Amino acid sequence: MVTYDQFTAHCQAVLARLHQACQAAGRSPASVRLLPVTKTHPVAAAEYAHRFGLTSVGENRVQEALLKRPQSPAGLRWELIGHLQSNKAKQALQAFDVLQSVDSVELAARLGRIATELGLSREVYVQVNSGNDPAKFGCDLAEAPAVLEALLPHRSLKVVGLMAIAPLSDDPAVAQRTFAELRRCRDGLETRFGVKLPELSMGMSGDLELAVAEGSTCVRVGSALYGSRPVL
Ligand SMILES: *Cc1c(COP(=O)(O)O)cnc(C)c1O
Repeated sequence: MVTYDQFTAHCQAVLARLHQACQAAGRSPASVRLLPVTKTHPVAAAEYAHRFGLTSVGENRVQEALLKRPQSPAGLRWELIGHLQSNKAKQALQAFDVLQSVDSVELAARLGRIATELGLSREVYVQVNSGNDPAKFGCDLAEAPAVLEALLPHRSLKVVGLMAIAPLSDDPAVAQRTFAELRRCRDGLETRFGVKLPELSMGMSGDLELAVAEGSTCVRVGSALYGSRPVL
């Protein structure tokens, strides 16, 4: 695990990359947020993010967030970026403020029902496998309208946008296409359903510039901030 000084230097480097990518794309740097991904790292990772002035952290497991959150600064927002099994829907709603990985009609319906029962309101993203990667979660592009349709009736859930993970590849064109497809999918859903979906969560340590060029509003960055993750 890095020290706070190292973390600060890494944050500044990532923010400089974001700034440059925004400039190259003719976008305002304020239009993209940096979501630090603290998964597998000690609780200090969340504390570092908070001390630096970042307002959210991303985690990919419900259990890990439930363990870390009580020991972390109170003001942080916790965002789920990993696959969610339906049977953990209730715990996920309790552990997270934002759920970025809603990827099926069944999960959408279950989250909506349970959030209403618990009197919770949560922001959600539809995770779309816009890179058609058999190794990735997320609904298929063709399923995205059905998942959105399943979310919209639930007033406890506010759908703010879409999330995608690019397939692992040495070819930058693969990530570029994945991000462009997600944006096209979002544009199509906005027109078809007459809703605003302003958020596109796409881009990580290795491909954030490509994501910003395609309209990302949230880059999820782990290793470029905290170093490599321990192998679990
Ligand atoms: C781990 C993870 C990230 C961060 O990946 P890095 O390459 O370490 O920046 C981003 N998004 C998701 C969904 C992740 O699981």
